[in-house]
Amino acid sequence: MRLSRYFLPVLKENPAEAQIVSHRYMLRAGMIKQQAAGIYSWLPLGLRVLRRIEQIVHEEQVRAGHIPLLMPTLQPADLWRESGRYDDYGQEMLRIKDRHERDMLYGPTNEEMITDIFRSHVSSYKDLPLTLYHIQWKFRDELRPRFGVMRGREFLMKDGYNFDVDRDSALHAYNRHMVSYLRTYERMGLTAIPMRAASGPIGGDNTHEFLVLANTGESEVFYDDRVTGLKLGARAVDYDDRAQVEGICGEFTTLYARTDETHDPALFETVPEAHRKVGRGIEVGQIFYFGTKYSDAMGATVVTRDGSRVPVEMGSHGIGVSRLLGAIIEASHDDKGIIWPEGVTPFPVGIVNLKQGDGAADAACAALEKALLARGLEPLYDDRDERAGAKFATMDLIGLPWRITVGPRGLANGVVELTSRRTGASEELSPEAAVERIAAIYAEHP
Ligand code: ATP
Ligand code: MG
Repeated sequence: MRLSRYFLPVLKENPAEAQIVSHRYMLRAGMIKQQAAGIYSWLPLGLRVLRRIEQIVHEEQVRAGHIPLLMPTLQPADLWRESGRYDDYGQEMLRIKDRHERDMLYGPTNEEMITDIFRSHVSSYKDLPLTLYHIQWKFRDELRPRFGVMRGREFLMKDGYNFDVDRDSALHAYNRHMVSYLRTYERMGLTAIPMRAASGPIGGDNTHEFLVLANTGESEVFYDDRVTGLKLGARAVDYDDRAQVEGICGEFTTLYARTDETHDPALFETVPEAHRKVGRGIEVGQIFYFGTKYSDAMGATVVTRDGSRVPVEMGSHGIGVSRLLGAIIEASHDDKGIIWPEGVTPFPVGIVNLKQGDGAADAACAALEKALLARGLEPLYDDRDERAGAKFATMDLIGLPWRITVGPRGLANGVVELTSRRTGASEELSPEAAVERIAAIYAEHP
């Protein structure tokens, strides 16, 4: 993409309404535009990151054996009357009447609808296990939408629902979600810690939230800081191997890590003092096993192997897809702008032409662009007739992890400069070698 032809409306001034750094940088980098409280347009650069995040979420869900579908944003109220939540949900639910005076709502979540789909089509244990998910816009009429996409009213969520014949299988689905979420967040360059959350209606140890540590987070968190060093890494996971998946969950949930809702001060005292930390975190996901709450209420049953009919065991599992942009920026920025992790960056590399209009510099940039595109790596080429300083400032603000700087002086020696946004370290190398390096870096971030 050539910047002269792109739509990147960067702001020079700090927007007054933005209280936290991620919101500020998303506005300044021309990623989003607020249309109403908590409702945003996604401008081209923001949309590219949103799509990257969605893609990673999809890939990891499919890897875990979960199946995508797409449910609508608008739902009939009658489904929610069946579960009893139409009245319980309160003012966060946006209620709408259609022209026939039928009660509709903009979905804040989809337990009822997915249970309706299930009961219409599945009635035997032979069709289980089944986990269906989608990535769809939600609406919650939050009392205080704030911090940009972090607490929006309209926001994008991945929500998945497992259907299982018995409790053990449903707990395996729960564990599968935990592991797939750990891998999802790691691919985005994030450390998201599973923390025991407030226990559900069934009680017990059956819900975890995933928190990214950040001073601006809305949750207070208490943890043994050794959890921050745990990594799933590249290890092979067989999602059908119950023991392996359960073992990984154990590894990540044994050290103390809780939000204020479940904090147990006495237990926390048993953490060695040097490791005992109190901080703040951003909730980027939550998994939940709730058994037969919806299947009981809505009559979603299956025939088991011995011929009896039982309500299906369920759980639901969400990732805050649009909130993740804010969380990633909170975790990865400096005073010049965003620093995108390679896994989610809107463009893998930027090209800065120090002397637009210089024949050699223009030709070298065009050749770099072509060579990168041939590797499937689309660069953002700043081909505007601007001062070098302004071009660097834009690149730093929008946070591409790598920059190739091309100028007549370097070219006279056969070199361009490759700079890491994260470390600021630069290295001179031939244009061909720069392309090789970028390709090698992204080979590790498919
Ligand atoms: P919160 O406690 O932050 O209000 P929640 O627990 O009500 O969130 P869930 O129902 O668990 O939210 O939804 C799954 C995920 O969707 C959350 O973990 C969060 O990342 C994201 N999410 C929830 N509400 C919002 C919102 N208003 N704006 C953006 N993302 C949100
Ligand atoms: Mg939650």
